[in-house]
Amino acid sequence: MPKKRRNGGKNRYGRGSATAVRCSNCRRVVPKDKAIKRFVIRSLVEAAAVGDIAVASVYKAGQYSIPKVYIKTQYCVSCAKHARLVKSRSPVNRRIRAPPIRPRIGQKIKPLGKPARGVKMSARRLAIVSQWALRKH
Ligand SMILES: [Zn+2]
Repeated sequence: MPKKRRNGGKNRYGRGSATAVRCSNCRRVVPKDKAIKRFVIRSLVEAAAVGDIAVASVYKAGQYSIPKVYIKTQYCVSCAKHARLVKSRSPVNRRIRAPPIRPRIGQKIKPLGKPARGVKMSARRLAIVSQWALRKH
């Protein structure tokens, strides 16, 4: 039977199975290596209220720091898709196993350009695959 993904959407690395975790949204049981994990660091106070706190506080700005919330969220594939954390890729692009580009703060992303319009789909596929082959793995 043809497979949609070679790894079944998991990162097994030689393991047979991974421990199960619960989805942060719907509590579905999902293998830990399949779960879509995001580490969210957010300010405890929303940006709009920071000014109000500064006015009301006895301490001057710089003398205190507003605490942050550190949340690790693990989603099942359905919830991650629904929340648009991940998007499905075309059958050709699904074969690309290189990790996605993750821009760091201050790092500029090179514009990849629009896909060539008017070019046959088969030619576009070739271009995508050849680009992928040129990348270092
Ligand atoms: Zn879920």
